[in-house]
Amino acid sequence: MSLGINLGDPGAKACTWSCIYCQCGFGNRVETMGGGFIPSVDQVLSGLKAAIEQQPAIDSVTIAGNSEPTSHPLFAEVVDAVLDFRKASGGRWIFNSLSNGSGLDDRKVVNACNRLDEIWIKFDCATDELFRRLNRPAARVGTVAEHLNRIKQLEKPRIQSLFWLFPDRPEMSNWTDKNREAVLTAYRAIVPEQVFITTIKREPAMRGLEPVPLEELESFGDRARAAGSDVKVFI
Ligand code: SF4
Repeated sequence: MSLGINLGDPGAKACTWSCIYCQCGFGNRVETMGGGFIPSVDQVLSGLKAAIEQQPAIDSVTIAGNSEPTSHPLFAEVVDAVLDFRKASGGRWIFNSLSNGSGLDDRKVVNACNRLDEIWIKFDCATDELFRRLNRPAARVGTVAEHLNRIKQLEKPRIQSLFWLFPDRPEMSNWTDKNREAVLTAYRAIVPEQVFITTIKREPAMRGLEPVPLEELESFGDRARAAGSDVKVFI
């Protein structure tokens, strides 16, 4: 069983990207978090303690949710507080986070991510054209090269790549020869600890996206393995 920690406002998604496949809708694309409700470190910790009291047999605690975790102004403090709590309580669960990596310009955030058991970073579009069109990052996020440079700050990056088809508008799909080749090149440059390859499962922000067939994903996964990555494909 996995517990999730949302560092954003449950009623108002705020992310530095605005992916067309996001299961939380388009929401607000922001440079930094602020304005709405942002949980304090104490609120996160008390919520986590209450959840674990109810469900002690948990396998993992994941910082994820409807907003970009590394945009929380106290992301590093949250990580440390949860790690201290796990140590004090003798917890054996894995502590990880899912992120788009846009907060990794800040050394404090990088160090906090390196203290997690696992940090999973999104990487779906490896050309600037698709990155801008499909992940739709805020201006300060910049280019694919800048995204890769942030990921390379991490000691043990893990990558999650989501691919999709868009039969009516092929230019809105990232399942193209060019993107697949560019993604493989990026995997070789990142040398990730692990790669998860997946496709659309829940209703995306934009209508018209469709899942990539499993056998096609598996075939791509084999190529990623041949390129040296530890790969898991799932839908
Ligand atoms: S990075 Fe994650 S939360 Fe942000 S828009 Fe993309 S899928 Fe949604």
